Amino acid sequence: MSATHLDSLDKIVSLAKSRGFIFQSSEIYGGLGAVYDYGPLGVELKRNIQAAWWKAMTQVHDNIVGIDAAIFMHPKVWKASGHVDGFNDPMIDDKESKKRYRADMLIEQHIFKLRQNGDDDKADELQKELDTTGTRKGLCEDLYDIIMQEEIRSPDSGAFDWTEVRQFNLMFKTHYGALAKDDDDVIYLRPETAQGIFVNYKNVLDTARVQVPFGIAQIGKAFRNEVVARQFVFRMREFEQMEMQYFVEPGTDGEEYEKWLQTRMDWHKSIGIREENLRVSPHPDDKLAHYARAAADIQYQYPIGWQEVEGIHNRSDFDLSQHQEFSGKKMEYFDQKNQKRYIPYVIETSVGLDRTTLMVLCDAYREEEVDGDSRTVLKIHPKLAPTKVGIFPLIKKPVLQELARKIETELKEDYTVLYDEAGSIGKRYRRQDEAGTPFCITVDFDGVESDGEDTVTIRYRDDMKQDRIPVSRVAEVIRDGMKSWKAG
Ligand code: ATP
Repeated sequence: MSATHLDSLDKIVSLAKSRGFIFQSSEIYGGLGAVYDYGPLGVELKRNIQAAWWKAMTQVHDNIVGIDAAIFMHPKVWKASGHVDGFNDPMIDDKESKKRYRADMLIEQHIFKLRQNGDDDKADELQKELDTTGTRKGLCEDLYDIIMQEEIRSPDSGAFDWTEVRQFNLMFKTHYGALAKDDDDVIYLRPETAQGIFVNYKNVLDTARVQVPFGIAQIGKAFRNEVVARQFVFRMREFEQMEMQYFVEPGTDGEEYEKWLQTRMDWHKSIGIREENLRVSPHPDDKLAHYARAAADIQYQYPIGWQEVEGIHNRSDFDLSQHQEFSGKKMEYFDQKNQKRYIPYVIETSVGLDRTTLMVLCDAYREEEVDGDSRTVLKIHPKLAPTKVGIFPLIKKPVLQELARKIETELKEDYTVLYDEAGSIGKRYRRQDEAGTPFCITVDFDGVESDGEDTVTIRYRDDMKQDRIPVSRVAEVIRDGMKSWKAG
């Protein structure tokens, strides 16, 4: 059996659509750029990822609790957080097509192309230049200089006719209330979920009987008016984040940061992502945000190159201090045991749910040659698989259908199952391979007409092996198969 791995996002985009994982938003109207809807298989996959994250970040810790904060927040929150004044991306416009691009992304794409063409030395040199932007003339000027020097052309028009690089705020603004009309009523769609946690830090401290160190976890929507938004669900304007802010005593932050970086890396492996496709990319000290003491990206090797899927940040006491200043409310923690008062430091783990979903799909995707035939299969970790078990009567005969329905009813209590009697058995297997279903049960005449207990065939997605097992063992075999699965 030979396998081909993924070399572009196109195959994932088309499989996602044809199998009902992910659709473009408002597609019948031509679609809405960088906004996507999850279909029947996609929503199951996404919820399973959410559940795995929630369990790993709350349930197994006795000092991490969850919250679900509203998307709308007091406008002052975004002043305090620095988003009103500083949440900008460096943009450049193509004068010919009038299209706007993120300047650093244009350079990254150029570097990616250089690598594809085997010019690694040039790519390395340019990457170094990109990593040190802001240290020569200034952020915008340095990016502009690289674009000029490399004669990077517009991806759409091919023109080399750029404006200056300018900063552009990414927050979506709207007006709040029926009588809203002036700037006082401006409200933002939150560009990150973290601030919902910071403004609730006191509430949680006062009600949840937690002591530093403790964490608050949250899953929720965030909105950014991204300009470069052409990479499917990698960069969206409406997306979902899974964040955990861990409040620690200053001085212990370095150790906690390292611990969480490792813990989060392990989580990505625990959901079946192959180790060789994951890496940690620390931010160099001179590129850190002014409030950050350390930061690293967990990157995945997407078909579009190594890209961030999660950020781990040591945010110092910046956020709580800012909210203390802007709200006038004390954010201090009193450590009774040591009779100390301080504003806790925050270690943040922030992962995109949509980018994780895309990572899971990319990592699971295989095209395989099997005995002269080919199949596309998603080798998703069984705990994330949208459908766990496909149940097929070999043909539409009552004796087979009845037993298949009986097994379906029993398994439904614990698993998402799919009963399918349409088409040849080979086609039904292939459909489930593409949906990532790890187990299929086929009910045939050999099983129901034999003496003694009824038997069925269980077929495994990954190696396509088939075993005949008694009906009474089906649940147990599936349970064991779920537990013992390993990424291959
Ligand atoms: P990038 O540099 O790729 O724009 P970022 O550093 O701005 O990402 P963070 O603000 O650290 O991202 O957000 C945390 C996580 O949220 C990211 O690691 C990513 O998984 C996710 N995320 C951020 N922006 C988007 C987006 N536009 N679409 C989908 N996911 C996103």
